[in-house]
Amino acid sequence: MTGHSPVRLLLVEDNELDAAWLIDNLRRGGLDIAVTHVDNRMDIAVALSRQAWDIVLCDYSMPSLSPVDVIAMIHGHDPDLPLIVVTGTIGEESAVALMQAGAADLVLKERIARLRPAIERELAASATRRRTYIIEAARRQADNLLRAIAANIPGMIFRRYMSVEGTVTYTFMQKDILADFIDTGGLVDPTNQMLVTASGAAMLRSIHPHDRQRYRDAMHRSATCLEPMTVEFQLITPSSPTKWLRSQSQPERLADGSIQWDGIALDVTELKAAESVRDHLAYFDPVTGLPNRTQLTRLLTDALASTPEGQRVALFCLSLESFTDLQDGWGLAATDTLLRQVAERLGRLSLPQEVLARLESGYFCFLLPNAPADLTPRLRELQGAFDTPYTVDGVQLRRRALVGVSLYPTDASDPLEMLQHASTALHQVKTGGVPFRLYVPEMTQRVLERQWLQSELSVALGQGDITLFFQPMVHPVDYRIIGAEALVRWHHRSRGLISPVDFVPAAEQGGQIVELGYEVLRIALKQAAAWRAAGLCDFPLSVNVSGIQLMRPDFSTLVLDLLNQHSLPAAALKLELTESTIIRDEEVVLRNITDLAERGVSFSLDDFGMEHSVFSRLSELPIDTVKVDKFFISQMTQNDAQAALVQAIVVMAHAMRKQVVAEGVETQEELIYLRAYQCDALQGYLFSRPVPAAEMEALLQQRHLGRASP
Ligand code: C2E
Ligand code: CA
Ligand code: CA
Repeated sequence: MTGHSPVRLLLVEDNELDAAWLIDNLRRGGLDIAVTHVDNRMDIAVALSRQAWDIVLCDYSMPSLSPVDVIAMIHGHDPDLPLIVVTGTIGEESAVALMQAGAADLVLKERIARLRPAIERELAASATRRRTYIIEAARRQADNLLRAIAANIPGMIFRRYMSVEGTVTYTFMQKDILADFIDTGGLVDPTNQMLVTASGAAMLRSIHPHDRQRYRDAMHRSATCLEPMTVEFQLITPSSPTKWLRSQSQPERLADGSIQWDGIALDVTELKAAESVRDHLAYFDPVTGLPNRTQLTRLLTDALASTPEGQRVALFCLSLESFTDLQDGWGLAATDTLLRQVAERLGRLSLPQEVLARLESGYFCFLLPNAPADLTPRLRELQGAFDTPYTVDGVQLRRRALVGVSLYPTDASDPLEMLQHASTALHQVKTGGVPFRLYVPEMTQRVLERQWLQSELSVALGQGDITLFFQPMVHPVDYRIIGAEALVRWHHRSRGLISPVDFVPAAEQGGQIVELGYEVLRIALKQAAAWRAAGLCDFPLSVNVSGIQLMRPDFSTLVLDLLNQHSLPAAALKLELTESTIIRDEEVVLRNITDLAERGVSFSLDDFGMEHSVFSRLSELPIDTVKVDKFFISQMTQNDAQAALVQAIVVMAHAMRKQVVAEGVETQEELIYLRAYQCDALQGYLFSRPVPAAEMEALLQQRHLGRASP
């Protein structure tokens, strides 16, 4: 050691002169030394404890100290501290004994020139030894640290090695954990119990066949580009079911061109299971198990992308008639049961290449990747599935399916548009009419308008912008007022008066009809109570109700409560129903009607003849009045057949003991016909337009509407 600091030399020598000679000799030889000279055990011990030493020189012939003892003392303190014995002539045996005792070297005084190289050699050797110790200690420490880390991670640490020839081997750190995944028998490294060495082939065999190619590709890509390799794969395990590992490793190219990765493989089996549940929920509807909107959009994207020119993709958007009111009235559990039944029926009908999906609420979708030119047969087939009533919680329900259709590439160019247009078309399907429609561009405008009406109506209901007009019904001979119909009016704050023809259908679709209908009943009954109290009205006041209101199980209770609140007899109210309301034969509707009829509320069938002409149902229901639609009245005087029809309706209704009201009577001529046919009551502009309550009150005070007299 000829470094910057002097060599720390401990000199054990009993002779002062010899010591000085030796030191002088070394210094003259060019060795930079810091010497401490000792000559007894006590001083040796003190010197050793006080500082670190680089080398010890020890005289051989000291009367009070044997060099073997000195060696023992020195090495007892630091086994690596080199000690050189300096001696006069010495026998071979003694020399051997000294070397065996641990002397690093023996230098004869007569060859003192050898001492300096000997010291330098020993210093170099001891420095190397110390470095090795330090490295080994560090390695041991790192090893322990690694073991500690390895023992605590939910996976394995591994090293993958790929030779220049492409042969792959693995070294795994944790044998124990690996045994959970693959059969480690015969793989254990005999020199290190913690390590397991496996061939690349053995490793690949334990990977699930599905994942092998992917694994190989990832490894080769990583080896070629020296990019980190991240791969998830399933293991075929000897004991447990499949395991998922997520392996991440960092490649390094070694000097010889081989590649070595150090990495970690985590057990992600549980994570994978959670992910698959999450994925399933992300793409499938939990109620029906059908693909949801997201999944449908994906499939639709694929279908559109792979559609050759000249071929069409059709999307049917299907919903049960008045689904929202069902949902409101039935609650979640029953609705879910119904949805599952619908899904099952539709599922049975769907062809292998078609996709059936469920969107939110009551919407189902059919995707026809290669749509036939004429869709009608397929649509009829689907609708046929709804002919049989559903039974939910013991209650029978008959509902048609309404379908809106959009076509690619004709009316939509992307999945979103297809969905939007199909649902727009669906919303244009009128209850009672043809149950399916193709999308046409004008529909979008109508949808916007409808949405505007719906949101504005909710506001209007809250701030009392809804009022009623009243239109009298008169006796055909003396024009006595024998009835009155309440007709809803909406005074919109900026748009002015909005016609019920526009907003009632929107309210029916948006569900606001329930609240609106209740408000109408409330105002009507309050008015009826006032007129009755004033002795102005002894006939029932007619109020229009929507089928959706009648779908609510609590409808009859609400009506009876309102009558009670105003201390009105049930006979003060007549409800006007449409044919579509009763044609469906809905249990809830029938129960509401019978409940109310039993209490004395009367019913009249509005717009008779327009939709179904349900004479047969009429006889079974407690409906005492039929209102012939104004369309027939207006046609009657122009067309003999229509006149005969009106007459037939009157005759048949009378035969069933029902009263007949003609509505929309505008002319004197119509009046003459209707009187001749013995119509029971007449309503129309000829007698009075619908008027505000105050004007109606004035008419009621007159009692007769003389203006119309022939
Ligand atoms: P509707 O029940 O058939 O009512 C009769 C409609 O014919 C009323 O229109 C009335 O103003 C109109 N009308 C009366 N006499 C004549 C006439 O001589 N000639 C012509 N051309 N029309 C006449 P309005 O008030 O616009 O109501 C339209 C429809 O809106 C009603 O038809 C009914 O279906 C619905 N509606 C009105 N009020 C309510 C309500 O409170 N609830 C429900 N659900 N629907 C209502
Ligand atoms: Ca009416
Ligand atoms: Ca009518």
